[in-house]
Amino acid sequence: MLRVLLLLPTTTYRTEAFLSAAHQLEVDVTVASEHPNTLEHLNPSALLTLDFQDLPGAAARVMEFSRDWPIDAVVPVDSQVVVVAATIAEALGLRHNSVQSAAAAEDKHLMRQLFEQAGVSSPRYRLCCLDEDRADLAARVEYPCVVKPLSLAASQGVMRADDPDQFAARVERLEAILACQDGEVAEEFLVEQFVEGPEVALEGILTDGALRVLALFDKPDALDGPFFEETIYLTPSGLADDVQQGIARLVQQAASALGLTDGPVHAELRLATDGPVVLEVHGRSIGGLCSRLLTFGSGLSLEELIIRHAVDQEVELPARQSEAAGVMMIPIPAAGRLEEIRGLEDARAVAGIDDLTITAHLGQQLVPLPEGSQYLGFLFARADQPEAVERALRDAHERLEFVVRP
Ligand code: ADP
Repeated sequence: MLRVLLLLPTTTYRTEAFLSAAHQLEVDVTVASEHPNTLEHLNPSALLTLDFQDLPGAAARVMEFSRDWPIDAVVPVDSQVVVVAATIAEALGLRHNSVQSAAAAEDKHLMRQLFEQAGVSSPRYRLCCLDEDRADLAARVEYPCVVKPLSLAASQGVMRADDPDQFAARVERLEAILACQDGEVAEEFLVEQFVEGPEVALEGILTDGALRVLALFDKPDALDGPFFEETIYLTPSGLADDVQQGIARLVQQAASALGLTDGPVHAELRLATDGPVVLEVHGRSIGGLCSRLLTFGSGLSLEELIIRHAVDQEVELPARQSEAAGVMMIPIPAAGRLEEIRGLEDARAVAGIDDLTITAHLGQQLVPLPEGSQYLGFLFARADQPEAVERALRDAHERLEFVVRP
């Protein structure tokens, strides 16, 4: 039997989806996490502890492990483990994205530089330092702009500024956010041109560098800032075919510019008046529980597609089922302690609602954007048309009430 090494950080939402995909596909699985598992000695082929920060150490540990239990593919489930997955795959001689390309997709500045060099349409940017003269910087920046950290995710620390006063306040706020992160405190940040226009996301898979689009999502809520909370993703996209093709071409160019060649990609773009502009391309699949809204062929999950593709690049990947589907990442309404959630049954009863999963727990301290990076949970809907999906999501969300004590 083939064996897949799943890199599953303990913080991921996606353990169940990937484990059930591996089970369905009847492949052997080794789960690697960063914290020791008490069952590891009982189940030595199934569980492995890896320090995901120590790239050579993690690769050496897997090399040793693979002498007893050979590994056929390495699958990273989240952004944090994309670079270590590429490092391990390279050490084992397995086909994978290069370590450099995986790292470039996780570093917003390097990504911008590579896009610029390759002529990929992306926002103008400037690398700035926290100890620069802020008044001087504020006077030189073009407005509106976006202030962002180099390496956080889920829109944490990403803020729009429309004038020099706002700019100074945003940079101060970013400085405080960076100071709260684990590890070395970042000194640098990016300032980008704010690209106006609707936003879309693309889910795809690369084989030998060639992109296959798995789904294109419209994001019907305007993302005008000052903070950029994701809410609704809808597929199929209502955009005209030629626009969709232009988006796919740009993501292909962007992936090539980073050097990504293999496995899942998730891209975010804006549709400016003169064409699509790529904000980000990651060498991983869509985050959170969002993948649940995608089903392929006779009912395969995105995770099944990813594992199938990881163990056999030649395998034929079925198309997404044609039904319209959508997800709402439920935003945090206010900072404080989550005391109670009302209306769950009412929300679940809305026609078209497929699933409602609350990921926050009662008693949890909720931190909204831009300091936070979480959502309360996920609402899923299906219907004949994307408009009906959107209505169901909004209707269900209105029935939910989150009692938050400041
Ligand atoms: P993250 O990796 O944390 O999600 P992104 O750089 O993708 O950070 O930014 C998060 C969101 O902020 C984007 O999805 C978009 O809505 C908004 N955003 C970021 N950069 C820009 C930009 N240059 N112009 C317009 N919107 C932006």
